[in-house]
Amino acid sequence: MTEVLDHWIAGSTDPGEGTRTGPVYDPALGVVSKEVRYGSAADIDRAVGVAKEAFASWGQVSITKRQNVMFGFRELLNQRKDELAAILTSEHGKVLSDAAGEVARGLEVVEFACSMPHLTKGAFSQNVSTDVDVYSVKEPLGVVGIISPFNFPAMVPMWFFPIAIATGNTVVLKPSEKDPSVANWIGALLKEAGLPDGVFNVVHGDKEAVDALLTHPDVASISFVGSTPIAKYVYETATSHGKRVQALGGAKNHMLVLPDADLDLVADAAVNAGFGSAGERCMAVSVVLAVEPIADEMIEKIRDRMGKLVVGDGRKGCDMGPLITREHRDKVAGYLDVATTDGATVVVDGREAEYDGPAEGFWLGPTLIDKVPTSSTVYRDEIFGPVLSVVRVSSYADGVDLINSSPYGNGTAIFTNDGGAARRFEREVEVGMVGINVPIPVPVAYHSFGGFKASIFGDAKAYGPQGIEFFTREKAITSRWLDPSHGGINLGFPQHD
Ligand code: NAD
Repeated sequence: MTEVLDHWIAGSTDPGEGTRTGPVYDPALGVVSKEVRYGSAADIDRAVGVAKEAFASWGQVSITKRQNVMFGFRELLNQRKDELAAILTSEHGKVLSDAAGEVARGLEVVEFACSMPHLTKGAFSQNVSTDVDVYSVKEPLGVVGIISPFNFPAMVPMWFFPIAIATGNTVVLKPSEKDPSVANWIGALLKEAGLPDGVFNVVHGDKEAVDALLTHPDVASISFVGSTPIAKYVYETATSHGKRVQALGGAKNHMLVLPDADLDLVADAAVNAGFGSAGERCMAVSVVLAVEPIADEMIEKIRDRMGKLVVGDGRKGCDMGPLITREHRDKVAGYLDVATTDGATVVVDGREAEYDGPAEGFWLGPTLIDKVPTSSTVYRDEIFGPVLSVVRVSSYADGVDLINSSPYGNGTAIFTNDGGAARRFEREVEVGMVGINVPIPVPVAYHSFGGFKASIFGDAKAYGPQGIEFFTREKAITSRWLDPSHGGINLGFPQHD
């Protein structure tokens, strides 16, 4: 009998009412490891109802008690992070060390949320008028919805729920149906850390569950991460239903290499950022813009390093694992044919790579394509696989123009030893997260994460100060303790004296 993963509602597993299920694969083995339930609108309604009931008390719980739950969760997560990484690898396919890195970056946000008493301190102005004080407080929103993608099943939910919960909200998470088990594991760990039942709920599923969450009258906000078309849809649907929305979308990240850069460091960075997690990262480098005359030498160095990468089952100490599904693997591999048709040069063909795992796994080796025309879909599409394109440009300005003409604006990097050029790049580039000799510039938890243009819909980025703003609403209170001198009639607009 194949195991069926239930939802996590009110502090325990719950099969819900939805009758549909979907397969969950072990991508390295290419087999179905379990089925996951696809929640119905009724299941979302139940989870939201439970979360609403929990909010009545959780929203009033002291900030110290909420902080203590976060500290407890942090301790437990630290003790058991290897367990979480192993579950993650078995359903996503990324290698164990990378899964551990994902958990560590999520943990950063938990630690940030542990500082919530300090971070949500309001402002106070004494005696703004005679005997009148004004102060502002940050209040939770209520029930908040989180919808996450397959590529970071632990970290992306952790961008949001620690801050949401620490500020007093209650959560309904709809994780990716492709690697859903991590979410239930987190639910059980939060319970063990002392989180009251109903504060954190998980409903699995697909569009049906997402749509029910986006339109539910008792859901105050939606935090979404996924591809651009769905991010746009989520933003438009949920805002039209009166919700606050942050929707982070796809990416096509360029790394600009100036001729003065150290090409060994450049090649290391391009390989790490291009092929880590098999390129299934929204901050992966997918295009290297080489300012001539360095392209030939740089490509040789990248090719050299690619030849040493070991592809295989992430549990076996390899460098790079499989892709998430066979369908996705085939779609990514299809871009190699497009590259040839469009006149690009395939330098390393990932279809010919050897791998340490059964043939049924969803394998595609690291791929390098040179002279990619910017009109080709290889350049334009977010491929989301281990495919690194090189585009040769003749100047810094041509490189920046290309980056700025991309519809996306998630991450970018410049590699140079010229401080002046780096400062100019920082100012001129229209991208939300910029690396200077840093290929994957994911901000730490106390700054906020998010791109520009089609990489984000809505005003609030994820975590950091913007995360706190997103999950709270500010109330301004004007107070005066009355005495007889305050009497009298005056219908004029209040003024200060
Ligand atoms: P996806 O858009 O297919 O799915 C994301 C979520 O939306 C999942 O929970 C999925 O069940 C749901 N969904 C899918 N189709 C839907 C539909 N038609 N209606 C309603 N809901 C739907 O994304 P994915 O393939 O899981 O993840 C990869 C994408 O996420 C890439 O584009 C990547 O760049 C992006 N991503 C962006 C960031 C960022 O911070 N900008 C971070 C991680 C991933």
